[in-house]
Amino acid sequence: MHILDIFARQQTTCSFEFFPPKSRAAADHLYETLQRLEPLRPAFVSVTYGAGGSSRELTHELVVRIRQSTDLDAIPHLTCIAHNAGEIEEILLRYAAAGVNNILALGGDCPANMAGHDRGQDAFRYATDLVRFIARFNASGRHHDSRGFGIGVAGYPEGHPATPNRLRELDYLKAKVDAGANYICTQLFFDNRDFYDFRERCELAGINVPIIAGVMPVTSHSGMVRMAELALGARIPAALMRDVLRFGNNAEDVERVGIEWATEQCRDLLAHSVRGIHFYTLNRSHATQLIYKNLAGQLPEAAPKPLRAV
Ligand code: FAD
Repeated sequence: MHILDIFARQQTTCSFEFFPPKSRAAADHLYETLQRLEPLRPAFVSVTYGAGGSSRELTHELVVRIRQSTDLDAIPHLTCIAHNAGEIEEILLRYAAAGVNNILALGGDCPANMAGHDRGQDAFRYATDLVRFIARFNASGRHHDSRGFGIGVAGYPEGHPATPNRLRELDYLKAKVDAGANYICTQLFFDNRDFYDFRERCELAGINVPIIAGVMPVTSHSGMVRMAELALGARIPAALMRDVLRFGNNAEDVERVGIEWATEQCRDLLAHSVRGIHFYTLNRSHATQLIYKNLAGQLPEAAPKPLRAV
């Protein structure tokens, strides 16, 4: 379903993010996770893209498999790094042929094994350039939906590390929306005040598309350390850090603390009319299931879907 139709049908969306598995065992584990999470009826799920890496094809495979084997709407991520325009067009044609309706368009970061890669060789420097390209593809009428792909982009409640000037950063975000983005999905954050402030700054800057809040429960001390590395700039509040450190040796207690924190974040976001909550699942179901259970019916379920065209 096109993202505009998803938002039209639901005042608040819930969605889950997965990454493509790299081994048979990891794939089996992911399909178990999908089976456990499908009954929660998310508005959509999204699949990350290995910027510049060898796993790029896996995103397509996973998205198509989810589409064929589940009732879930899958949104592929797509990044600019190390792509030329012909490759991106090819990817868009394949997704259109597979009946995929939306894409999350991203800049991407150079992976460690591509250190020194010359971004000047890439057709698209910033996500805005990719959004513009997808919008042109949409206008060419090569997608079964006359609107073409719905387009999402990334936003950073605590700021993106490459742009210390926060006013300029908002200009760049607005440029992505003006180029054709239909919604913004945020980087994970742990203090909702950062999100509310970001949302208000977007409004003041004239950015009026839905903003979905990224939530990731901390489930282990090592996970928190890894997360701080992956989501550069994300601040871990002292209260959360204190509890994680206090229970550092007891995995169950750390997980309980992280899930309680994320539950309260979601409760508060819902009370503040958030347009959507996007769970970074790390391909695991347990934490997301427990948060749903804790919120006992407060999280919205997707409205029943119309039959989809194949
Ligand atoms: P951009 O919008 O291009 O911005 C990158 C930086 O450039 C920002 O600092 C921005 O302010 C600045 N900028 C933008 N336009 C200009 C301009 N015209 N002139 C100067 N500076 C400019 N990474 C992956 O590799 N794969 C994924 O699947 C993936 N999924 C993600 C999903 C979400 C929801 C989020 C929040 C991030 C994801 N990332 C992913 C990480 C993302 O690729 C990185 O954070 C990357 O550094 C920035 O991506 P962007 O789309 O925000 O890029």
